[in-house]
Parts: sequence; structure tokens; C-alpha cells
Amino acid sequence: MNIPAAKIFFPDEDRKEILGKIDEILTTGQLTLGKFGKEFENKFAEYVGVKYAVAVNSGTSALEIPLRALDVTGHSVIVPTNTFFATPASVMHAGGKVIFADAKDNLCLDVDSVNESIRKDTKGVIVVHIGGNIQPDMKALREICDDHKLFLLEDAAHAQGSTLDGKKAGSFGDAAAFSFYPTKVMTSGEGGMITTNDENIYKRALVFRDQGKAGFFGNVHTELGYNWRMSEVHAAIGLSQFARLEEFIADRRRAAAIYDKELKNIKKIKSIKISSNVRSNYYKYCALLEKGVDRAALKKELKEKYTVSLSGEVYELPCHLQPIFKENLGFKEGDFPVAEDMCRRHVCLPVFATMTEEQAKYVVSSLKEVLK
Ligand SMILES: *Cc1c(COP(=O)(O)O)cnc(C)c1O
Repeated sequence: MNIPAAKIFFPDEDRKEILGKIDEILTTGQLTLGKFGKEFENKFAEYVGVKYAVAVNSGTSALEIPLRALDVTGHSVIVPTNTFFATPASVMHAGGKVIFADAKDNLCLDVDSVNESIRKDTKGVIVVHIGGNIQPDMKALREICDDHKLFLLEDAAHAQGSTLDGKKAGSFGDAAAFSFYPTKVMTSGEGGMITTNDENIYKRALVFRDQGKAGFFGNVHTELGYNWRMSEVHAAIGLSQFARLEEFIADRRRAAAIYDKELKNIKKIKSIKISSNVRSNYYKYCALLEKGVDRAALKKELKEKYTVSLSGEVYELPCHLQPIFKENLGFKEGDFPVAEDMCRRHVCLPVFATMTEEQAKYVVSSLKEVLK
């Protein structure tokens, strides 16, 4: 049985519907910032449970725009070190300074580490819902932010449809950034979405997205914006996938439930715990290998002997050890011990829409053989 690391799924009827919309887009000539983008924003905001959503061309710009709207230039922002490059990079692109914080053994941000990292010039914190698991200490984190007058930005690139106490990812911070990159739980090809309840952030985001222009018509530039627009073709693809989001999550959660149950019977690996009040969308199913297990060798054997591909880690190397940050900001190994250990030892089991029970069970039985 061949198990891919991930799978992009556009059923026949969805492809036909998308093609119909593309035909309409080409016929009307309304190629960008049109009705499909607007519909995508409205539906997404309603789903997340916020007042506003702004569609943009990537998850990276969905991070940078709110950071600009929150005026981070010259200020520091606390970011977990175990995240994707785009999280700290967006702070730097927006003119801010990055302070890294450590993780806990559930891969989530260590709230104590955040508390200890706050400096005089700190303006905010970015929390990343790694693998779709919402930070369970959100309340404590929010309190720290409120006490120190810091903003809280959610990097929800992994967390479309995840909930904490029934509330959706993207509704906890001052603003949130989603990504619709092809590997994410839903895709628009390329694309992203900002969600917020803050009218000021919303209004400025609209301006930043379109070259800092005060309005769509006219040529008055009031902000240092960029071309961060989402095209109508991408919005049409995103709308189609959005309509399947709950279905995709259900498939992923079914596979995850099998992993939860079966991994208990395998030595040398254990599931990374997700709090009972979190509904993860299982963008990733993360599990921790016992110390001493060679991850690269395990992945190689699973692939070559059992045709099971594990998905990419989140992340293999913490950001402070990435050459660009390590050398420029002067970090060394051991600076963030928990994140480093977790990055070194975790694996991500394959999960995707349409995954069957049989496929998930085959992954587990292969894993059992290799770890014997
Ligand atoms: C994918 C991702 C991003 C960037 O999204 P793009 O759409 O690829 O620009 C940002 N943060 C995290 C955590 C991501 O996984």
C-alpha cells in the first residue's frame, strides 16, 4: 500500500465548478479584488466568528500586513522558535526585531518563556497553532499580553477550523493569519486570509494589501503597502476548498483517532498530547520518538520497505538555528532546549483528506515493524 505524505484533493464536481467560475472571471474581466474574493472573505469571517476578513496572496503577507497595521517598526515581537521561517521573517520585513521563545513538550509556545522574554521595546507576541493544535494556554497568554499592553497575533496557517473550547482559531488574537498554500488543510493554490475584530486593523489591512492606496480608485498612497492582492482565480479555488473544509477535517480526525489508539501499543513512540478542549484539524499528526531512535533512518525504512511517506516535521530545525537567524542574531545550540529536543525527535504521520481507516492502520503496522 502506497501512503503519500499528503494529498491535494479536488473532486471532479469541484474542478467543474471552479472552471465555470474561471470562465466567468475571464468573460467579465474582473480578475482581481472582485466578487469571489469578497464572498471568500465574508464566508471565512463568518466561519471563524470574527467581524472582518481580508483575502491576500499568501500566508506570509497575512502575517506581515497586521504587523504593519500594528506598527511594529523599531519594536520587538516575541515569536516561538519552533515555527516556519515566515513567522519571524514577517516581523523583520515589517521593520521589527525578533525575540525567540521556547516551546513546551506539546510543541506549543511556553508561556513562561514568553513572560521572561518581554523587553521594554516589546510590542506583541505571535502564537503559532503548530500542526493545527491551538495553544491550550491561550487564556494565560492573553493575560500576559493584556498586563504588558502587547498585541497578540495568531499565526493560524496550520489551523483552519481548529477550535479551543468551541471557539475557532483566528478569533483569539487581535488579528490572525491563515495560509492556503497547497500543503495546508485547504488551499487556494497560493493565498492567505487575515481575520480580525479590530476595525482599525481591518481598514489599514485593505490599504496595505493594495499598494497602500487609500481607495481602489484613485492614486493616493497613504501607507507603505505592497501588491498583496488575491486574484479572483485563487479566490474561486479557495471558495471551493472552503466548502469542503469540515469534510477534510473529519477525514483527518478519523485517521488521527486511529493513530491515538494504536500508538499506545508501540514502544519507542508516543502521540504528542492535544488538550481535551482542543479540536485539532490535524494539519499534522505529531508523535515523539524515544531518545536514541534515528529519525532519518526510520523515515528511510518506512519509505523504502513499506512505501509509507511521513510528512514534513513542524519543524526539523528551530528558527534560532537556521543560518540566517543563528549567524545574524548570535544564537547557539542549547539556547532553547525544549524546542530543540522536540524538533529533533518528533515525526509527523501522514494525514490527508480521503485517508481511509485501512491506510491509517497500515501506517501503524509498518511503524510497529520498523520500531521493533
Ligand atoms: C505555511 C506557513 C506560513 C506561510 O504561508 P504561505 O502561504 O506559504 O506564505 C506561515 N506560517 C506558518 C506556520 C506556515 O506553516
